[in-house]
Amino acid sequence: MKNIFSNVIRQWYGPLTDTLSRSFGQFGLGQVPADKVPEGTTSLVCGFCSTGCNLEAHLKEGVAVNITPTVSSPVNIGMACPKGWESLNVTKSLDRATVPLIRGNRKDAFTPTSWDDALQTFVERFKSIQTKYGPESLAFISTGQIPTEEMAFLGALSKFGMGIRHGDGNTRQCMATSVAAYKQAFGFDAPPYTYDDFENSDCIILVGSNLCIAHPIMWQRILRNKNNPQIIVIDPRFTETAMNATQYIGLKPKSDLNLFYGIANILIRQGNIDEQFIRDHTSDFDAFAIHVETYSPERVSRDTGISVEQLYQIANAIAGAKRASFWWTMGVNQSYQGVLTAQAIINIALMTGNIGKPGTGANSITGQCNAMGSRLFSNTTNLLGGRDFKDQDARRHVANFLDIPEDNIPNEAGYAYHEIIEKILQGKIKGLWVIATNPAHSWINQNMCKDVLDRLDFLVVQDMYRTTETAELADMILPAAGWGEKDGTFINSERRIGLIKKVLRAPDQALSDFNIFKLIASYWGCEQMFEKWRSPADVFQLLKELSRDQPCDFTGIRDYQQLDVASGIQWPFPDKGPPQLDKQRRLFSDGAFFHSDRKAKFVFGSPRHMPELPTKRFPFILLTGRGSAAQWHTQTRTSKSATLRELYPQKNYVEMNTADASRLGIRNGDLVIVESQRGKLEANAVLSPALQSGNAFVPMHYSETNRLTLAHFDPVSKQPSFKDCAVQIRKPDYRDG
Ligand code: SF4
Repeated sequence: MKNIFSNVIRQWYGPLTDTLSRSFGQFGLGQVPADKVPEGTTSLVCGFCSTGCNLEAHLKEGVAVNITPTVSSPVNIGMACPKGWESLNVTKSLDRATVPLIRGNRKDAFTPTSWDDALQTFVERFKSIQTKYGPESLAFISTGQIPTEEMAFLGALSKFGMGIRHGDGNTRQCMATSVAAYKQAFGFDAPPYTYDDFENSDCIILVGSNLCIAHPIMWQRILRNKNNPQIIVIDPRFTETAMNATQYIGLKPKSDLNLFYGIANILIRQGNIDEQFIRDHTSDFDAFAIHVETYSPERVSRDTGISVEQLYQIANAIAGAKRASFWWTMGVNQSYQGVLTAQAIINIALMTGNIGKPGTGANSITGQCNAMGSRLFSNTTNLLGGRDFKDQDARRHVANFLDIPEDNIPNEAGYAYHEIIEKILQGKIKGLWVIATNPAHSWINQNMCKDVLDRLDFLVVQDMYRTTETAELADMILPAAGWGEKDGTFINSERRIGLIKKVLRAPDQALSDFNIFKLIASYWGCEQMFEKWRSPADVFQLLKELSRDQPCDFTGIRDYQQLDVASGIQWPFPDKGPPQLDKQRRLFSDGAFFHSDRKAKFVFGSPRHMPELPTKRFPFILLTGRGSAAQWHTQTRTSKSATLRELYPQKNYVEMNTADASRLGIRNGDLVIVESQRGKLEANAVLSPALQSGNAFVPMHYSETNRLTLAHFDPVSKQPSFKDCAVQIRKPDYRDG
C-alpha cells in the first residue's frame, strides 16, 4: 500500500516528490515551493466571512509574514475587520492536526499513525459498513469554508465514486432558507446584488441582520453612501446596527412574516406599486394581493408589537424611495418559517420594482466565505452547477462531461443535515465523515447531537485542528491544511469568484483537503474516475464547463490568473456575448428571471406558531447570534489569536432586559444559570435596554450555547431555527451542584 501512496503523491505533487521520496515519514507536504510564489505581495480572498475581502499577503522567502487589506479591491477598498487582519495568526496553533490520528476505542487516547495506515483503515472501515448495512449507511457533513474545487471534489468523489448517498454542508445552518426562497421566486438560487448597491440605495432595509458586527465591511460600504439614506433596521434586539439606524423597528421575535404581509397590504392599498413591472416581469401577484388583504395595520400591529404609525412609516419610506434595497441574514434564515419570510421580502422588492437597478434588490447576505460555492458546486442539495439531481437530462449531461457512468449519479439529493442526524439516531447511518466543520458545537440541541455522534460505528474528522468538540468524539482525525496553505476559489455574497492561494506551509504532514480526496480516491479504487481532477486549477476548468448555459455560467473566466488580476469576477460571466468586465454587476437588469416564462413568482403562505412558547417555568424567549466582529462561529480559529481573544469576553454571557433582571434580583455581571428543557449553561448577566422584556440573548460562539436550543426546522429549506426557544434565567442554587 505504501507504493500506492508514494505513486499517488508523486503524480500530484510534482516538485515536492523528491522531498517525499527522501522520507516517507517526514514528507514536509505543506512546503511552498520557493519558485512558485513571487516575493513581495500577493492578493488572496479572506477565509472567514462571505464578504470576500481581498487581502495582501506580504511574502518572505515564499511564505506570508504579514497581511494587509487590498486597497484596489472592488470589495473591501482597503478595509478589513479584525478577523481578516489576524488571518495568519489563527493558523499557528499548538493544537493543529499535524499527523493522522487513530484510536480503537473512543475512551482511549489517539495515537499518531502514517497516512498509509490511516487511509487503509478509512477505506476498510467505511467499505465494511457499506457492505454490511448497504449504501444508505454512510454520510458526510461538509462546510462552506473550503474552496469550491474541494467541495466539488468531495461531492463527486463521495457520491459518484464511493457510492455515499447522503451528504450535506454546514451551509444548511445558514443559507438553505435563501436558496429555497430564491429558487422558488427567481427560478435559480441567485442573490441579485452587487456591493455597490449599499452605496447607491436611498432606503436600506436590514432585516435580522447585525451588519456592524457580522459583516463590518459591508456596513462600511453603507457609510460611504452619499445619498443620506434612510437605514431601517428590523430586529427584536436593539443591535449595534440598530443603534446606527435612522429608524429601528423592534418587533416581537418571529413576527417578521406578518410584518411584511402588513407592509405589502399598505403598499397595495395606497397604490405604491409598480404595476408595469408586475405585469411584465412577475406571476401570481393577484393571488398575493388577495392573501395580504387580511393583514390589516391593526392586526399586524398586534401580531408584531409595533405601532400602526411605525408600519406606515416603513411602507412610506419604501414608497418614497427612488432606490430601496432589502437585505437579510440569519434573523430571517434561521427560522421555522424562514423561506416564507424571505419570500415576503422578495415580494415587496418585486411589487415596488426594486430589483435589477442600482441601489435596489432583495438581497440575502451569505455567511461563510464560500457559502455560495457550496450552494452551486458541493453536489449536496444540487447536482454540480446548480442542477437538479431529479432531472435525467442534467444527470446525463454531467455524466457525459465527466466521463462517468450515468448510473453513478443519484437521482435525488440525499438527506439534509438533520435527516442525517436522525438516521444516525435510528441506527441507519453507521459511518460519518466530517470535513472542516464542528457539529458537536454548532448543531442545534447539542446534547442530542453529541449522543447521536457517539452512536456511530466509525466517525472520521478531517480538520485543521485536533481539538474541536467533534474531533474529540472521532475514531480518526485526518490533518488538513487550512486557508493560506492551499489554492482554490471562493464565491462571495455578491457572486464574486475570487482566488485563495498557498502562501503558508501547512504543518508537518497536514495535506490540503484536495489532496486528501485524491488519496482517498486512490485507496478506494475509483481514481480513474478522477484522472482529470489533477489540481484545483484543473478542477476550476471542469467546473467552468459545468456552469455553461446555467444562470451561474462563468465560462468567460479564462483561468486563475484572470481572477487574480481582476480581484475576482462576478457570475454570470459567459464566454459569449459582449465582455462584461465591469467591476460591479447585478442580476435582472433586463427584467428576465430564470423560470421558463422568464418571470419572477410571488410565493406566500400562512405564518406558523412558534413551537416552544414561553411558560411560567421558562418565561424568556432565547435569541442567539453573533457576539462580536472578532469571533467566528465556533471559535475554532478565532480563539487561536491572542489579539482576537482580547476583543471579546472569554466567558459566555446572557443579555437581558434591565427590568427583568431587577425583578429577578440579578445585577450586571452576576453569574447566572440559563436553562431550557434540554440543558443549561453558566453565563455572566449583561443588563441591557437592547433586549425587550421577556427576551434574552446568548452568543452562538461558546461551546455550551446549543445545549439550550430546540431542534426544529423550516419545512422547505430544512434549516434549523436557532433563534426561538423558551428558557429560564436564575441565580445558581443547589440544582447546579
Ligand atoms: Fe474577512 Fe469578512 Fe472580515 Fe472581510 S469582513 S476581513 S471577509 S472576516
